[in-house]
Amino acid sequence: MISAGTAPSFQRQSLHLMTTEFLKHLRDALGDDIVETEADGIAPWLTDWRGVYKGNAQAVVRPRSTEQVAACLRLCNQHGVPVVPRGGNTGLCGGATPDASPANVILSLDRMNHIRAIDTVANTMVVDAGCILGTLRRAANEADRLLPLSLAAEDSSQIGGNIATNAGGVNVLRYGMARELVLGIEAVLPSGEIYKGLQTLRKDNTGYDLKQLFIGSEGTLGIITGVALRLQAPSRVRSVVLAAVDSPQQALQLLRLVFGACGPRLQAFEFFTDQCLDLVLSQVEGLHAPFSERHPGYVLIELADTANEEALQAMLEDVIGQALEQEVCVDAALSATLSQLQSLWRLREEISEAQKADGPHLKHDISLPIERIPDFMVSAETRLRGLASDARLFIFGHFGDGNLHYNVSRPLGADRGWAGEWEERISALVFDEVAQYGGSISAEHGIGQLKRHAFHQHKDPLQIRLMQDIKQLFDPKGIMNPGKLL
Ligand SMILES: Cc1cc2nc3c(=O)[nH]c(=O)nc-3n(C[C@H](O)[C@H](O)[C@H](O)COP(=O)(O)OP(=O)(O)OC[C@H]3O[C@@H](n4cnc5c(N)ncnc54)[C@H](O)[C@@H]3O)c2cc1C
Repeated sequence: MISAGTAPSFQRQSLHLMTTEFLKHLRDALGDDIVETEADGIAPWLTDWRGVYKGNAQAVVRPRSTEQVAACLRLCNQHGVPVVPRGGNTGLCGGATPDASPANVILSLDRMNHIRAIDTVANTMVVDAGCILGTLRRAANEADRLLPLSLAAEDSSQIGGNIATNAGGVNVLRYGMARELVLGIEAVLPSGEIYKGLQTLRKDNTGYDLKQLFIGSEGTLGIITGVALRLQAPSRVRSVVLAAVDSPQQALQLLRLVFGACGPRLQAFEFFTDQCLDLVLSQVEGLHAPFSERHPGYVLIELADTANEEALQAMLEDVIGQALEQEVCVDAALSATLSQLQSLWRLREEISEAQKADGPHLKHDISLPIERIPDFMVSAETRLRGLASDARLFIFGHFGDGNLHYNVSRPLGADRGWAGEWEERISALVFDEVAQYGGSISAEHGIGQLKRHAFHQHKDPLQIRLMQDIKQLFDPKGIMNPGKLL
């Protein structure tokens, strides 16, 4: 675990005085029930989902309203107190974990969890930023609409965190990233001013689209407190097939074929290797091997539509028949019932949980030009084997978006400290390969603490300078989520 250091004693004394005065102001402004300062109460908020990062904080603030968020930020800004925004804490880059400073305030949105409005004519939803994504998806479903943002962590992550990380997930192929679903944003700036952009208009060409700056900003510009989202027609009927492939090249050809045949009904095209299947079957109870034989890779394909289940199933059967005939897949398991559909999905969605259970590993959430994925995989693995021949490689992800989770785990029998020892060399190798193939070092998880070094190494210096200028404009005192992203 990457831990916080200790402050020298003279610093601790002056910090103590500042802290006492600041906390008194904070309590006066917000009330005792909003401000947690007991060590036992703060402790659970100091680590990330994977248990890789650990930091410090003097308080956890859990406001109930945008005005309370504004009061908190105003005070933090006046006193120069760093603020770490916290959503569902499912981020995989340490973005919501405070750094070593004992002055940090963690601001959690978990009590701001109301759906403000659902409009089934305009097809919009306006919500508090602390709403859990899965809750919003179910609410949209009850209104006979679809909120298409979907990821394995949806029952823990919050929509504010999803927007702050510009989350992706399994339906990007059809509906785009979180950014494409956002119509409006309400946010509190470090000054305590409220950015009132919570509109549901489809069209508004009045200058710069400032809400875009908050999307993917990882809590470095302000706190997102409300979001207006675009809804889609419901996916009332779904069909899923798991296709076995001999190579990533075959998966590419399969993507070309399925997209051509099914077009907008293609909702997901997810890939995982046989190593991932092995891991999931060994770590997660209740799952079964989908084929009598094992294959190098698998592609999970989902089609969805508003009506006509039989036609959808026939379309999928037809395209898979063509795929087998044209030898762009070697076997296929079609779901005939909802429970079969869910079981096939679990083989893909439980991979992250299985990796967590397996122990510390090196995560690389990368994207590549899709047609270059097969060559990248060969080239990166050849170099990896040259460096750490026994490392275990788990590759899975949103293949249809060119997004791979390229995760490297310790060799069998190696101790749990292996990942820490090898991180610098292995990640440098992976990111170097990604750069050579024209990809990105972060497809959807963001930068956080994990990829700051690589971000500065690989991002164009002009783009970094412009980001720093924007940060300076929004947050001149640098209180928002220090040590993350920039
Ligand atoms: C099992 C598993 C599967 C996952 N699958 C995917 C996937 O398919 N696609 C994907 O994109 N991600 C995935 N993730 C990563 C994670 O779920 C997303 O990054 C998610 O969007 C984070 O939301 P959160 O509410 O948990 O945010 P947190 O982890 O709490 O925070 C993430 C960042 O956003 C900031 N933040 C949080 N809330 C706010 C706010 N209201 N205002 C301003 N800043 C804020 C934090 O400071 C931090 O920098 C997965 C994670 C897990 C554990």
